[in-house]
Amino acid sequence: MGWLVWQTVGDPGGDGTAGQASPSAGRSASQGPGGTEGTAGGGDGKQDDSLGDGRTAGGQERSPSPSASAPAASGPLKGKVVVIDPGHNPGNFKHTTEINRKVDIGTNSKECDTTGTSTNAGYTEAAFTLDVARRMRAVLEEQGATVRFTQDGDRPWGPCVDERARIGNKASADAVVSIHADGSATGNRGFHVILPGSVHSGAADTRPIVGPSRDLGERIAGNFLRATGSAPSNYIGGGTGLDVRKDLGGLNLSTVPKVFIECGNMRDAKDATLLTSGAWRQKAAQGISEGIVSFLRG
Ligand SMILES: [Zn+2]
Repeated sequence: MGWLVWQTVGDPGGDGTAGQASPSAGRSASQGPGGTEGTAGGGDGKQDDSLGDGRTAGGQERSPSPSASAPAASGPLKGKVVVIDPGHNPGNFKHTTEINRKVDIGTNSKECDTTGTSTNAGYTEAAFTLDVARRMRAVLEEQGATVRFTQDGDRPWGPCVDERARIGNKASADAVVSIHADGSATGNRGFHVILPGSVHSGAADTRPIVGPSRDLGERIAGNFLRATGSAPSNYIGGGTGLDVRKDLGGLNLSTVPKVFIECGNMRDAKDATLLTSGAWRQKAAQGISEGIVSFLRG
């Protein structure tokens, strides 16, 4: 697609993450397919100001927070707000009490967050998601979008899944994407996009966002496939690359179009080779971003 200036994106953030093996890294291996993301979500709000509220403070255009981007002077996405939710947090391993606290996700209560998974060599999902998110930010800002993060490696843990959802809501985001990689059995490969199912219970009411979120998710899946060459999941979604879930707080509590993407299976050696490659992560970021742009431009 000609609108992307690939060469400007480079390799932001490096990886900085290989070899950050954690003694807890193996924990999530038992979570099984589709189980890793019990967690899109929310937080305690401590850093809300840096994530969304600052935009409107005193009528100012934006806050100086590193989590809020500087909108480009022009571009096709000028005026559009995209919230990127890098799944988990590199510090969650050290804050088990905090992240195990239950939060209300409408349909039931669920842990605040999880540690996420990792490759067998110890490259963590949290590091992966932050890296892809930062690459996406560069691509989307180039298009003029205002980009906000739910966390940018700038807080010790979390936020919780409910707060992750609220950040998108408060920002009145035009699109929200939660970035993840799965922790499934070896041999399970490929990506899938998770769409919100129709939920109306307690604080959760996804009925208005089911349709637009599916549109967003289908565009992301198609562009991710083309950009990375990765096949849709061979273990979830029947080859469509799409799944629908009603158990994720980050989706249940969203009032704006939102999807998750599981970019691959960190526990499969072949997928892990891709996920640990900066060049591949750049393609992933471009594919996801192109899906968002396609959605926002209609
Ligand atoms: Zn995850």
